[in-house]
Amino acid sequence: MTRTYLTKSRYIDGLRCEKKLWLGCHQRLSYEKALPFSVLDTGHRIGCGARALFPGGVEVTEKPFEHRAAVSRTAELMAENTAAIFEGAFEFQNIRIRVDILERLENGWGLREVKSSASASEEKGHVDDVAVQLYVLKGVGIDITSVELIHVNAEYCLDDNGIVWSEMLCRRNLTAEAMDRLAQVGNIVLQMFEVVERDEAPTVYATKSLCNNPYRCDYFDHCMGEKPDDWTGFLYRIHPNRLAALRAQGIESIPDIPEDFNLPEKQALALNCLASGELWVSDDLADVLSPLGPPAYYMDFETMAPGIPVYPGTRPYEKVPFQFSVHAIDVDGVLTHNAYLAEGVLHPGRAFAEALIAAIDHKNLPVVVYNKSFELGVLNTLCEMFTDLAEDLGGIMNNVVDLLPVVRDHICHPGFVTRRSLDAGTYSIKNVLPVLVPSMSYADLNGVTEGAEASRVFTGIVHGVYAGHAADDYRQQLLDYCAQDTLAMVEIQKALRALSHDRTMSA
Ligand code: SF4
Repeated sequence: MTRTYLTKSRYIDGLRCEKKLWLGCHQRLSYEKALPFSVLDTGHRIGCGARALFPGGVEVTEKPFEHRAAVSRTAELMAENTAAIFEGAFEFQNIRIRVDILERLENGWGLREVKSSASASEEKGHVDDVAVQLYVLKGVGIDITSVELIHVNAEYCLDDNGIVWSEMLCRRNLTAEAMDRLAQVGNIVLQMFEVVERDEAPTVYATKSLCNNPYRCDYFDHCMGEKPDDWTGFLYRIHPNRLAALRAQGIESIPDIPEDFNLPEKQALALNCLASGELWVSDDLADVLSPLGPPAYYMDFETMAPGIPVYPGTRPYEKVPFQFSVHAIDVDGVLTHNAYLAEGVLHPGRAFAEALIAAIDHKNLPVVVYNKSFELGVLNTLCEMFTDLAEDLGGIMNNVVDLLPVVRDHICHPGFVTRRSLDAGTYSIKNVLPVLVPSMSYADLNGVTEGAEASRVFTGIVHGVYAGHAADDYRQQLLDYCAQDTLAMVEIQKALRALSHDRTMSA
């Protein structure tokens, strides 16, 4: 039987969670090609861009399943006078690695790891990543005299001449950190092999904090699927210590939480709602709804933040608004809709701002948003960029009112505490909408259903990856998705008004 091997990804997975390490070896997820301009694809593009820093470099093109051939080809290139080797393959003690860039130096070799982050991060495992590669390379006798992490330079500003990779990327020397960490790798590797050689997956208690940091684990759905439908972890922002205290008492389901268990007010309220199956409505719901109109506007933005800047004058990961939806209800209760979706050729900021000012033409009406920090942040940036529009944009900002705290602080619905809250958050519009407005749900949308996907799709359109019918289809999906966000606010507010009315009548 072939012994399971480690890779640098498995090593990093194993440091985070031994169950992930085991599942990655024994229950591999089916391969899915990264979608254009997804996080993974952007990382790949940045990795390719970094090669521009090493002229004369040669890629080892053999695939991961051609590992032996890749190792041989790497050895050939090292024996020749190749200046740098991209994706060089090595194996030591059953650990297989592909090195992003191996740079030939006068006094040995340089290990270069490329990351799409804007800094070196211990939390994201960057030092461990280079340390395990160093372990393998030293193990096979390669003289590594320098280790660098090549990452995105957040200060880089794109000009009209296209990306200059030597400026867009920073080279951070991690030699000392990698050498220090090296001493731990051997023991960790032994422990990891002990884990992967078990017959069954190790028992690890999945929690939102463990499984979402520093990014969501690929096995999140698998592990969360093992939780009961009334899992204690579905309670809004329950602290990991409280979750652990409940678990220590053998309590996994919310209905089993004892009455005398100390919970913060919001969680205790949710517990009561679930126990009674009844909705809680605050005494002052009518008062807090009053400043939200109608008449009112309902406003939502979509932004992109590409790791590789698209528009001259922008930096990596800079937020660029490209779309808004505005619904309006007038004094007679008539609902109208206005939308803007950039073409994408030019920086959309100016056209976005002008279209928004035109769409919100009654300057004294409330502008309802859901989670105002996002929209206010975008408007603030637009004010700084276009000072001649700052007065009009400032007027919109002054009228912004936030529907999110009204929902969060003035009603509690048993329907909010569900598995769906894992993806969207307890008080997110996506979780709240189908509970308060059963006739509407984001699940009914076709295609784009969340902000990250909207951003990815628009970036693809800008780059011409999606053109013709594909671009038309995606543009319609974007319009539908953003319109749903503002219509959802209209309907949620209506539902809240009905609840407050019922409460007044029954008081
Ligand atoms: S979802 Fe959580 S518990 Fe499951 S493998 Fe991933 S990190 Fe581990």
